[in-house]
Amino acid sequence: RLKARISQASTSEVYGDPSVHPQTEGYWGNVNPIGPRSCYDEGKRCAETLFFDYYRQHRLDIRVARIFNTYGPRMHPNDGRVVSNFIMQALKGEEITLYGKGEQTRSFCYVDDLLDGILRFMDRPADAEGATGPLNLGNPGEFTIRQLAEKVIQLTGSPSRIVFRPLPQDDPMQRQPDISLAKRQLDWAPKVCLDEGLKPTIEYFARMLS
Ligand code: UDP
Repeated sequence: RLKARISQASTSEVYGDPSVHPQTEGYWGNVNPIGPRSCYDEGKRCAETLFFDYYRQHRLDIRVARIFNTYGPRMHPNDGRVVSNFIMQALKGEEITLYGKGEQTRSFCYVDDLLDGILRFMDRPADAEGATGPLNLGNPGEFTIRQLAEKVIQLTGSPSRIVFRPLPQDDPMQRQPDISLAKRQLDWAPKVCLDEGLKPTIEYFARMLS
């Protein structure tokens, strides 16, 4: 009604356990519709559908960003995600819980880089080419979860040891954004590598604990 520009914070989870690597926006994904992750994955897929229906029917000024794994200061310490889990466990000297063999990969984007990308995306005029998205936003630097655990142990100087726990069902084996489109359209690419971004994140959790 107010002709407001509206953004949907979508997710790399729309690609499910991807058979295309790295993931481009044109890939339709590989999602189990009835598994334990499905409410999130299919919910986000349905949200994208509704955004594009409103765009087609009402010319709503939409922006759909597919956000890949993001981390940084002010993450919630107990939401169960891997970066916060590992850092909290390392700082408390607890066991580092690696799910599966830790061979699955993720690509971690520092929060400031992501926000810069989102703001550039939101600022593009509605008549710019591909203004609606969907647009991948993330850092293409890909790591195994085991590598992440080792980095966190090294950067915190923690005595924690790694323990292995069962891999959750439908856990994606690999994930890496293809950000060619964002580079071209937004003149954007992440600047902060994982080692650099983990330092202020570790400091944040350490301050919180003390
Ligand atoms: N993971 C892990 N230990 C943990 C939490 C997560 O090994 O304590 C793994 C998880 O199985 C997945 C990866 O880390 O393969 C990323 O998990 P997260 O929940 O952070 O993000 P998502 O799976 O949604 O990308």
